[in-house]
Amino acid sequence: MRTNTFEIVHDRPYGAGVMASQPLAKDRVIADLTECATADEPSIYTIDVGDGRHIDGPQVRYLNHSCAPNVYVDAHLMHVRALRPIAEGEELTFFYPSTEWDMVGPFACLCGAADCVGTVTGARNTDTSVLRHHALNRHVEERIKAASAAGVTR
Ligand SMILES: [Zn+2]
Repeated sequence: MRTNTFEIVHDRPYGAGVMASQPLAKDRVIADLTECATADEPSIYTIDVGDGRHIDGPQVRYLNHSCAPNVYVDAHLMHVRALRPIAEGEELTFFYPSTEWDMVGPFACLCGAADCVGTVTGARNTDTSVLRHHALNRHVEERIKAASAAGVTR
């Protein structure tokens, strides 16, 4: 799948990925998520958009995680946008805990970022000091607030 903003490739060492198909300016909307299907239940491919809804589609299924992401999945505006200028051919990545509270399939992150979370498990099990460095969706912010109000050890 190739659009004028992204291309899905299947030749990454870890499987598929999504690459910028042209240079993208900061804040450029890269993919519209309103056409995504609603999944019956969360999986390793879905994205949590709040209110118990999880979406799936080629626009999100192959977006890999990075602890130094270059795109943001906006579950309110239902789009993917650039967090910074992105070069043509650069892989698009987002910070999974920005949408996921709990993850169906936690994994060891190999992104190599200075503040890499190590094991990606969702916001619930990510240190608050790390989460503060990232833009988070409102449904995740609300879960963090609720957990801290309940005195849950995180
Ligand atoms: Zn990482």
